[in-house]
Amino acid sequence: MTNKEFDEKFRYDEKDLGVNCKEGKTVFKVWSPMAERILLRLYDKDGGEPFLEREMRLGERGVWERVFPESLHGMYYDYLVRIEGKDVRTADPYAICCNCNGSRSMVVDLGQTDPEGFPEDRAPAVEGEQIIYELHIKDFSYDKDSGIPEVYRGKYKAFTIEKTGQSYPTCMEYLKELGVTYVHLLPFFDYGSVDEAGDGNQYNWGYDPLNFNVPEGSYATDVSDGTVRIRECKEMIQSLHKNGLRVIMDVVYNHTYRNDSWLERMVPGYYYRYQEDGSLSDGSACGNDIAAGRAMVDNYIADSVMYWAKEYHVDGFRFDLMGLLTVELMNRIRRELDEEFGTGEKLIYGEPWRANSSPMESGTRAALKVNTGCLDEGIGIFSDDTRDAIKGHVFREEEPGFVNGGDGLEALILHAVTGWRDGGAVFRPRSCAQIINYVSAHDNFTLWDKLVLSMHNGESDFSTRYEDVLAANKLAAFIYFTCQGSLFMQAGEEFARTKFGDENSFQSGPKLNMLKWSRTVEYKELVDYYKGLIHLRKKLPGLCDKHKSAALRIRGKSIHADKVVSFRVDNRDFDQAGEWDELYIIYNASLKEHQLDLPAGKWEILADGKVSDCRLKVPEDQASVTVGAGSGMLLGRYGVEG
Ligand code: CA
Repeated sequence: MTNKEFDEKFRYDEKDLGVNCKEGKTVFKVWSPMAERILLRLYDKDGGEPFLEREMRLGERGVWERVFPESLHGMYYDYLVRIEGKDVRTADPYAICCNCNGSRSMVVDLGQTDPEGFPEDRAPAVEGEQIIYELHIKDFSYDKDSGIPEVYRGKYKAFTIEKTGQSYPTCMEYLKELGVTYVHLLPFFDYGSVDEAGDGNQYNWGYDPLNFNVPEGSYATDVSDGTVRIRECKEMIQSLHKNGLRVIMDVVYNHTYRNDSWLERMVPGYYYRYQEDGSLSDGSACGNDIAAGRAMVDNYIADSVMYWAKEYHVDGFRFDLMGLLTVELMNRIRRELDEEFGTGEKLIYGEPWRANSSPMESGTRAALKVNTGCLDEGIGIFSDDTRDAIKGHVFREEEPGFVNGGDGLEALILHAVTGWRDGGAVFRPRSCAQIINYVSAHDNFTLWDKLVLSMHNGESDFSTRYEDVLAANKLAAFIYFTCQGSLFMQAGEEFARTKFGDENSFQSGPKLNMLKWSRTVEYKELVDYYKGLIHLRKKLPGLCDKHKSAALRIRGKSIHADKVVSFRVDNRDFDQAGEWDELYIIYNASLKEHQLDLPAGKWEILADGKVSDCRLKVPEDQASVTVGAGSGMLLGRYGVEG
């Protein structure tokens, strides 16, 4: 049977796989067309022998079922699946709860896991722009200077502390003041690389999924009861919402932690991609690739996304190695979320690349950057083009970009400002809504480290406060905050976060990775600069516009000298009267100040290399402005009617 024939015969589209426990009834369902027998085993505690075993009954399309006329909330379970005469033990791939370390599944009545007020929890309205802050749950509060009580440090619970008692703003209070609109959390589904029974000093970014639909246990205060991780994860999201922040979940549907996953044990050979010689493909560089494009794989992923959105009130998803998934699946997820929650209510973006090539199902297209134009307009991609044009190559540490000495990048930078809508890249987005502008993320060097390495090559000391690096950091931020598209930043970029040159710190321990809160004081100048840019951006409709026509707002692009460029932005808000009908934006990455003539009209400086979100009127008899070396300037034209 071909893959297609198998899928046609066994495809199951109902949304009831896993365990449904409510109203005094518990229903177990799994999909396994090749199984000869499936035994359900129930345990009253984590460990020991089953107290009850029941044969599952085979129904249509390879779905096995068992119904109990009672609530089994709190019971653990697993399955013995017999295929070709051999019994294999597995947890439930559709599990929504599990034991410590996730080897057994757990029955939960989800209604009993809601924190107080959770049914009424709503995401805050988005103001002006999507400004995304990428954060790891443990990094957020591991530092004792966070002021978070020790039992909550590194945990979901840290997000519920609104005032930490520290003498300066930290954690939630800090996020709120910063003004970002989304918090993007590195993976918090159950991952396998950290021993949940071990001590709190273990660390991993978490790109190694074990149970896709269960929250990670090491962030919970108690892993002996599976409901605690669910409740505390919901509390975290509820608290972020309450404090005006939306929540993005980093999801990793492209591979599993082990090749011998629950999916593989339940339906051997179905969920992964294989090379022609029968070996597993490895486009993820993690040992396996989930076979997006097959009917039940796509159902699994789409249903999992919907589950997190509905049950946990997650507001958006960042897809790891989206280039291993398909255009068709991504567009389907977009459509299903829009139908359920309203168009664009949930944010979707991903990495439009993969580590290695991967054999796709016939008739599917990989969700790679070159296919951005085939993706729905509501699916964003990380713009590595913008990132590298601004600060230089992501792997070649000494190679500079526009802000740190790179030559000949003027034209690219001017393409970046429209989100590559006017060409300049190997792809063409449908609109700037598809572009995520950024200069640093958890992967690769922090922005500070990259700038230190490229500007102080050979004598790099990451602890030194280099003034030239600080200026380049500000200019980098100034540039991507004045590009059309959405904005994304790694937590701590705004306080010169350093990992001392460690470009792949996924298991380098919490001390290296954690946010060092004292740096928010040490680099307050930089924090304030970012804060100003964040606030200013929300007031500039010409840059926030996500329509297809937004690029037409950018005009008068000019290269004035090496490393000096400018452009103007039609900043009219077509819904209401704005303060500035036009913006004039200049990037001067050269070592000299540069004088430019001002277009006609009355202008005020809204940001320059030192301050952002200011209002300094240019005297009316002054026809030009001087932009300092290594800095940007943004001016707004005021006093024009209509
Ligand atoms: Ca885990």
